[in-house]
Amino acid sequence: MYPCYRDGVLEPVGPTSLAAVIGENLLYLAMWVLAGLLLWPVWMPGGVPVLAIGWWVLLAIVQVLLKKHNCSGCYYYGKTCHLGWGHLSAWWFPPDSGDPAVGMRLAMIYIVPPPVILLTALAWGFLTHVGAGYWGLLGGYMALNALSFPVRKYGCGRCAMRKVCAGSAAKGK
Ligand code: SF4
Repeated sequence: MYPCYRDGVLEPVGPTSLAAVIGENLLYLAMWVLAGLLLWPVWMPGGVPVLAIGWWVLLAIVQVLLKKHNCSGCYYYGKTCHLGWGHLSAWWFPPDSGDPAVGMRLAMIYIVPPPVILLTALAWGFLTHVGAGYWGLLGGYMALNALSFPVRKYGCGRCAMRKVCAGSAAKGK
């Protein structure tokens, strides 16, 4: 575990169920897929949905790097956190093989893109008079993002890293 975390790790609150891990992963996957579908028509030079493909490629790269820079130094490395990603990290990278400062910057992928994608989709929808299907996708994307807040707070509240993790939504617990 990274030295900066060692003194602040708490007892996890109960075991993490496989159903909760699968459910939270499905929630993130659905948000990422919907985000790409919203970007799909926005820029298509030669018929290629460049923005959507770029988003998914960026996401895949950053997610792998996060398993190195955040998860390899986490209490849950090789264990089951609320996302189960400690196991991915242990399969892919040696322990403590990343840089937590880099991990913190990479974690901006959870904060910056959602409002940018939302505003882009809104502008695209109004400017090009899209049909009901596009608005339905946007509504679904907004609903899943709203749902992610209580889900994340619940997961953070049970996590052993809740006091020391920079992204914790339950620092006061
Ligand atoms: S709690 Fe966060 S940093 Fe730790 S293994 Fe799980 S996803 Fe990675």
